[in-house]
Amino acid sequence: MPGGNVGEGLVVDLSAGFPDLTVDPQRRVARAGASVTWAQLNDAARPYGLRLPPDPSSGLFATSGGMVGTNAAGPRSVRYGSVRTWVEGLELVEADGSLRTVVRGEQASKFVLTADSRRLIADRFPKTRKNSSGYALDRFAETGDEVDLLVGSEGTLAIVTAVHWRLDSIPADIAGAALGFPDLESMTEAVPYLVSLKPTALELLDSTLLQFVPEAPKVACLLLVEFERESSAAARGVVGDAVRGLKNSVTHVETAVDRRGLENLWSVRRLASPALARLPPSQRSLQVIEDGCVPLHALGDYVTGLRAAADRAGIPVAIFGHAGDGHVHVNALPDTTRPGWRNALARLFAEVTNLLLQLGGVPSGEHGVGRLRAGVLERFYGPEVMDLFRAVKRAYDPLTILNPGVIIPATGWSPLAALKIGAEAAAIPDDIATRLRDVERNAAWATSKLQLAR
Ligand SMILES: Cc1cc2nc3c(=O)[nH]c(=O)nc-3n(C[C@H](O)[C@H](O)[C@H](O)COP(=O)(O)OP(=O)(O)OC[C@H]3O[C@@H](n4cnc5c(N)ncnc54)[C@H](O)[C@@H]3O)c2cc1C
Repeated sequence: MPGGNVGEGLVVDLSAGFPDLTVDPQRRVARAGASVTWAQLNDAARPYGLRLPPDPSSGLFATSGGMVGTNAAGPRSVRYGSVRTWVEGLELVEADGSLRTVVRGEQASKFVLTADSRRLIADRFPKTRKNSSGYALDRFAETGDEVDLLVGSEGTLAIVTAVHWRLDSIPADIAGAALGFPDLESMTEAVPYLVSLKPTALELLDSTLLQFVPEAPKVACLLLVEFERESSAAARGVVGDAVRGLKNSVTHVETAVDRRGLENLWSVRRLASPALARLPPSQRSLQVIEDGCVPLHALGDYVTGLRAAADRAGIPVAIFGHAGDGHVHVNALPDTTRPGWRNALARLFAEVTNLLLQLGGVPSGEHGVGRLRAGVLERFYGPEVMDLFRAVKRAYDPLTILNPGVIIPATGWSPLAALKIGAEAAAIPDDIATRLRDVERNAAWATSKLQLAR
């Protein structure tokens, strides 16, 4: 999403060619080649009652290599975290072409932190629940485990050819609720209470998104909460606790006591995608400020600030995401025939970056910084941590051949320079442009973009 897998040079496509997959139900682990998607992994694990708990919405096409690259997450990450802790080992091709397998528990020898660096990291890393912005030196400082450093390195330290996943049991029962709030303050107050009840998902749909769905309740924001438990009584009981605990602040309540009911509740979220895809041809849905994450208490301020920044830029936005992690996705919807829209988008990018800094947030909670956000990292971490990031890169890739410009910004970094949209963008051949537009309209993100050129 943030231009992590494109750039100048060779594109190494591992989405095919590494399809091996074996599940060991006794040890509750799986070895998946880099091309194996989240969906394929879970299809293979399900007959044993097992799954990979973090569940990226892109699971149909997100590969094992890509999920490790970005430290992917999803709605269930409020309970199970991002994929990092579910990685037991990695098979790699390193920058010099050598092959290596790294197993959880092994201390890194290529790069080690001094006591001073550990103190610096503890001081400078933002305290968000999720973070896919730069190398995970905070986690690495705790464990010294090389797996922790490599996960989330966005293809800049090594190429992953296989992942050894740890799997978990699928809980027996599920129940949930859709809770509507009259304002952002009451929603923000409700989130820590709901998190304390240990939900497996706690998702936000803001009015900026709900307005695209005629069937949606007329509220300022909607929280979808899901609880998985070992019995239906326990799952229903906790939904009751949630609703009772919030009876003075919600203005809309719908509950579901089984998987099918829950799917109905979630249909509001699913209906938003086709609605956004039916925007007029001049209006595009762009992911440039789409992944900010803030400390939980700042969620309401972040959404308020996002709405205000979008108003000032004159760019409509649709806001939704992982409320339980303080992590919000934003589709920017500029009219690309309007003069000055690129500058307005650049202003929005800059304002949202400032807002995240003010609120103690990070620019990416799960998509990575790619090329789009590499140049803002120094503002979040400071020059000394950035020097540590450069030292990590030098230790693994001294010639900078692996994904140059990602995490460590290229000289002359300019966030929107490579945007492939609008009159000033480099021309795309008509047939490919039409096919790309079809992908966008049909949300057919699983289509291989390389196939479009054939
Ligand atoms: C509609 C949509 C919904 C999404 N929803 C979510 C979501 O809910 N949660 C989430 O976390 N993300 C989400 N994403 C973002 C993205 O799908 C995930 O980050 C996913 O894990 C990326 O996997 P991929 O195989 O597509 O990798 P790519 O996007 O191709 O690559 C991602 C990064 O990893 C690197 N990389 C890829 N393969 C390897 C490899 N084998 N070795 C080393 N580096 C590699 C790339 O260079 C790049 O930097 C979504 C994207 C879309 C389009």
